[in-house]
Formats: sequence, structure tokens, C-alpha cells
Amino acid sequence: MNTDVAIVGGGLAGLNAARLLQAAGIDFLLFEARATLGGRIQTVNERGQPDADGFDLGPSWFWPRMQPAIANLVAELELPTFPQNNDGDVVFERMSRESPKHYPGLAQEPEAIRLVGGSAALVRAIAESLAEGRLRCGAEVTGMRLTEDGVVLFVRLADGQEERVHALHAIAAVPPRILNATVRFEPALDSGTEQLWKQTPTWMAPHAKFFAVYDRPFWREAGFSGTAQGMVGPLAEIHDATTSSGEAALFGFLGMGAEQRKTMGEKALTEGCIQQFARLFGKQAAHPRATLFKDWAADPLTATPADWFSAGHPRAPEGGWVAGRWKERLTLAGSEVSPIEAGYLAGAVEASAAAVAHLIQKFARNKG
Ligand SMILES: Cc1cc2nc3c(=O)[nH]c(=O)nc-3n(C[C@H](O)[C@H](O)[C@H](O)COP(=O)(O)OP(=O)(O)OC[C@H]3O[C@@H](n4cnc5c(N)ncnc54)[C@H](O)[C@@H]3O)c2cc1C
Repeated sequence: MNTDVAIVGGGLAGLNAARLLQAAGIDFLLFEARATLGGRIQTVNERGQPDADGFDLGPSWFWPRMQPAIANLVAELELPTFPQNNDGDVVFERMSRESPKHYPGLAQEPEAIRLVGGSAALVRAIAESLAEGRLRCGAEVTGMRLTEDGVVLFVRLADGQEERVHALHAIAAVPPRILNATVRFEPALDSGTEQLWKQTPTWMAPHAKFFAVYDRPFWREAGFSGTAQGMVGPLAEIHDATTSSGEAALFGFLGMGAEQRKTMGEKALTEGCIQQFARLFGKQAAHPRATLFKDWAADPLTATPADWFSAGHPRAPEGGWVAGRWKERLTLAGSEVSPIEAGYLAGAVEASAAAVAHLIQKFARNKG
């Protein structure tokens, strides 16, 4: 099989690259290892199934006033949005021997905005705009080999079969650490590039989110916004996750490291989180209709063991993300390589747009 551009990764960056290549009339194929598109964007219902009106296990917010790249994409796709609920008191639990304290909530600046239906609305809208047969899910790229006129990608399909795809150029829309962990390069990468990718943290990969779903947003009726901070745990930062259609939920980021979460296990963590919600928001919080737990550090297509211990925003290297013989045939495009909004949804949009702009120039030069 042949294509002009092979895109590795079907998260926001890969999909945006596909959208822009299609608009430029450049042939492409996109390979996504997971069964579904979206990568770190995962919107699910209370049973944990992907849903058009659900809860965001990954990113929930963007900040349009600071992040024009994602704001413009959302506007172009005509996706409806709504603000994160901040009306009401915030709760702060400082220590276990003291009751949690309430404070009047402050208007959030800049305002965090959510997508109606959840962040996966972005993924659906882009995927629907792409020509049929261009997106392959359940297709993990395991190797890349340089040839005289391009790259051969080795693709492992869900049924275990291997496919070889020849492309003039490859766009890797995956975090550099994951690229290094999942793809074998022939010839091998130069050691500087390999070290750079290994040392680049994947934003939010060390984290885990917990959701409790309720029949009503009872905390709002009691004057709480749903925002809380805790020093006691297990959750460190809590927010209202109620959907735009009114499915009521609270969510929080776990405040302990990946190793400790693994040792405690999901059952004990779930019990601890529900007890914490009850301490912060009252007895009604002790009886959620459903709970959801997503530990991103345990997801091998987002995190490597290195992410358990090193967090933070990646920094763009001075010499570029790919050096040596691979430089002419491979461009990185995941959020982590954005020089402006590394790690964020906005970074995925920026990095993929920059990669495609580079390819449009390269193909125009080669034709000329
Ligand atoms: C818990 C959490 C909360 C977050 N909150 C926010 C937020 O509120 N706002 C915000 O702006 N950002 C947030 N982020 C960050 C945001 O999710 C990312 O910036 C964005 O989704 C990255 O998109 P991407 O396409 O660059 O990478 P990814 O979404 O990681 O996509 C990479 C894709 O490549 C696939 N893949 C990997 N290796 C291979 C391979 N070898 N072959 C084929 N496919 C492969 C993966 O399965 C994945 O689908 C959050 C992230 C997490 C985890």
C-alpha cells in the first residue's frame, strides 16, 4: 500500500493533520493503535462507553482567550460550548482533624470553556469531515524503515497481521516518549534525538481522574460550585463535571503518585474518593449512581514508566525534534512538540498545523 503522508496517531493532532492535508489535496492515511479515535480525548457515559454526551476522562477545558488555535478550530467546526460551572462556594479541606471550610468562589480568569457533548465532539466533527477509508483504527505502527524515496511503516493490525505501507513522509502525532517506546527505527535514531524523546514528559500522563455520577447536582442547590481542594485526599482538585444536558457529576484529580495508586487499587481509591465527596459536599454525595476511574499512567499508549516520575510541560529543543537521517522524512506533530501550548489541546492543533505547513512547502518544492 502507498500513500504520500502516513500519519501515526489518531488523537487531536493526527486528526487535525489529516484535515489540513485533505484541504491541501495531499493524499494521506492515518494509523491509530487504539480501537477508537481521540487518544487522550475520551468522552464516556456512566457505563464507561464512548458517548456523544458524556464525561471527559481526559481533557475537559480550553481557554479561548489565551488559546486562539483551539478557539478558531472550535469556531470553524461550529461546535457549541459552555463555561465550566463556577457559581457558588468553593470548599477547602486542609487537614483530617478539621472540618472542610467554605469560601465564596471567585470568577475564573481566564474562563475555562467546555464543549457541548464533551471534548470528543471535536474528534467526531473532524473524523466526519474526512474522506472514507483514510482512517485506520486498531492499527499500531511498530516500525519505520527509511528507503531511497520515503519510509516504509510496519503496521500491526488488531487481528495480529502485519501490513507494510510506503509513504513519502511520516507525521508522528504521538508524544515523543510514546513514539520512542512503540516504534523501532531502521536506521536507528541518532542518540541525541532518542535521548530528547525519552526525556520529554507527556503532559498529564502521570495523572488519574475519578468521577461520581448523581441523579441531581445537589451541591449546586446547597450553594456549592463543585470546586474543591483537598490536602487530605485521595483527590487533590475537584470540579463540577455536569454535562450541558444536565447529567450531574463531580470529578477530581487523584493527589497521589502512580505507584501509590497501583498499590491501593481501584476499589480502595473509589471508596476513598466517595468518602471525600461526602465530607466536602454532604451525605448525598455518599451515594453516586455510578463511578468512573481512569488512570492515565497505566495506559501504555499514553504513558511509559518514565511518566510515573517526571511530569511537566515539555520544552521545544533549539535544534528541532528530529536530527540525522530521519529529519527529511519524519515530522513530529503531537501536542508535546508545540512551541507555544505544549501539552494542551491548543498545542495539538498548533503542532499539527505547523507539520502540515512544512509538508505543503516540501511537496511544492519537490514538484517545482
Ligand atoms: C487527564 C487529562 C486531562 C487533561 N486536561 C486537559 C485540559 O483540560 N485542557 C487541555 O487543553 N489539555 C488537557 N489535557 C491534554 C490533552 O489531552 C492533550 O494535549 C491532547 O489530547 C493531545 O493530543 P495529541 O493528538 O497530541 O496526543 P494523543 O491524544 O496522546 O494522541 C496520540 C495517539 O497516538 C496513538 N498512538 C500512540 N502510539 C502509536 C503507534 N505506535 N501507532 C499508532 N498509534 C499510536 C495513541 O493511541 C493516541 O490515540 C489533558 C490530558 C489528560 C490525560
